[in-house]
Amino acid sequence: MRKPVVIGNRKMHGTQAEARALAAGVRDGLKRKPPVSVVVCPPFTALPVVAQTIANSAIELGAQNCHWDPSGAHTGEIAIPMLAELGCRWVLVGHSERRKEMGETDEQINRKVQAVLSHALVPVLCVGETAEERRQGLTFTTVEGQLRAGLAGLTADGLAKVVLAYEPVWAIGTGVNATPAQAGEVHGYVRGLVSELSSKEVAQTVPILYGGSVKADNAESLMAEPEIDGALVGGASLKAPEFIAIVKKAAASSGAVREGRR
Ligand code: PEP
Repeated sequence: MRKPVVIGNRKMHGTQAEARALAAGVRDGLKRKPPVSVVVCPPFTALPVVAQTIANSAIELGAQNCHWDPSGAHTGEIAIPMLAELGCRWVLVGHSERRKEMGETDEQINRKVQAVLSHALVPVLCVGETAEERRQGLTFTTVEGQLRAGLAGLTADGLAKVVLAYEPVWAIGTGVNATPAQAGEVHGYVRGLVSELSSKEVAQTVPILYGGSVKADNAESLMAEPEIDGALVGGASLKAPEFIAIVKKAAASSGAVREGRR
């Protein structure tokens, strides 16, 4: 059984004081540890205050990006050991906003995935098609290309330590989420591909999250899909009660799996 994962991607929002207040709100709302991995990814500048705020709580710390080199002449970049030093255990890799705005390539994303694993952190590899690609019937082709390139060179052991996030670009920040059936179909495809790249056993253990306009009121139906193992949440992670509600829906969905209702 896969433990659900809910990740809040705070993007470029929040001063340190705002990040502290938000993290405290989530921490206080989740005093009883849920059967869910809960991860918050604040902006780099807020990592230390958020780390302090969530210390000894059920919440883990993640980063929104990293460089693949452990140090070096890379102006403006952040290395994985710097993130680890602050307590980060998770790193988002290949978010579509970085692919689009920063021109991140599949090759760079693959280097990041490998580097995150080599430092024993968890890479969350994001993939997803644009609206145009979906219109042209290229959803699976796009997702397959991004996955094959992003996971290239990984052993089955390495693949078993990766988290994947299917995030259709047209659903990110738009308020238009993929329907549970649309997301479930791609998740099933992704799991099949992971199985081909590793083994059926490994594929059954890899969490595949859905991201794209997840909110408290659509989380339950999305997570009722058997292949959806949690959520990568952007906008709705900026309000503690909304984010907590999503975590609770994920916890309820894992209870349903345990009891054989899903
Ligand atoms: C994201 O940033 O990964 C995301 C899914 O954003 P939103 O939830 O706002 O669509």
